[in-house]
Amino acid sequence: FRGQITLDGPSGTGKSTVARGVAARLGAAYLDTGAMYRAATVAVLDAGVDPHDADAVARTVAAARIEVGTEAGTELVLVDGVDVATRIRSAEVTRAVSAVSAVPAVRRQLVDQQRALVASAEVVVVEGRDIGTVVLPDATLKIYLTAAPEVRAERRAGQLGITDAAEIAVLAADLRRRDEYDSSRADSPLRPAEDSVVVDSTDLDQQGVVARIVELAAS
Ligand code: C5P
Repeated sequence: FRGQITLDGPSGTGKSTVARGVAARLGAAYLDTGAMYRAATVAVLDAGVDPHDADAVARTVAAARIEVGTEAGTELVLVDGVDVATRIRSAEVTRAVSAVSAVPAVRRQLVDQQRALVASAEVVVVEGRDIGTVVLPDATLKIYLTAAPEVRAERRAGQLGITDAAEIAVLAADLRRRDEYDSSRADSPLRPAEDSVVVDSTDLDQQGVVARIVELAAS
């Protein structure tokens, strides 16, 4: 396989694990665009800027140097040279990232950066929300990964080591809130590209999903 594979869909579908798995199987480069929006959010929070103040957010992100790696095996995320790979997964960042990523100037900046990062890759898997629709509309293979909301909350809980039912309910509510916020935007990235293949992971384990996508890439 040669070309670009886009992997879009809501959070909690196991997208990141699947994308890394597909990249590893194909020997491909890998880009996690969610990590870039999360890194931008770290810059905003560290500057003491209100994530809902669009102008201030746009200025802050424009001034920040956001770097992400494109290797499937390692997670490299830097803001102004500082390693934020762990911090971008914090609850604080997760709460604020939708507001930051809704700012059009932030999206323009990061989309440009995403295109530049994958431009020279012969084989690449790019993961996000709007990759097949906006970032790489001419990609070779477009996948839209979905799963039932309850399943997505359970998966998130499993990753975080949470077993308490009340806490899982909080996670499910947070997933729903982020989906609604993300899909209420004017450019609504939470919709499959017309030429995408929808893969429902509700009844598949992650290896099954990886195998299905590798199969689609080979056909
Ligand atoms: O995929 P992940 O959960 O890390 O993404 C974090 C947030 O970044 C999403 O909830 C969404 O608001 C935003 N995002 C986006 N466009 C992308 C990737 C992520 O708006 N391509």
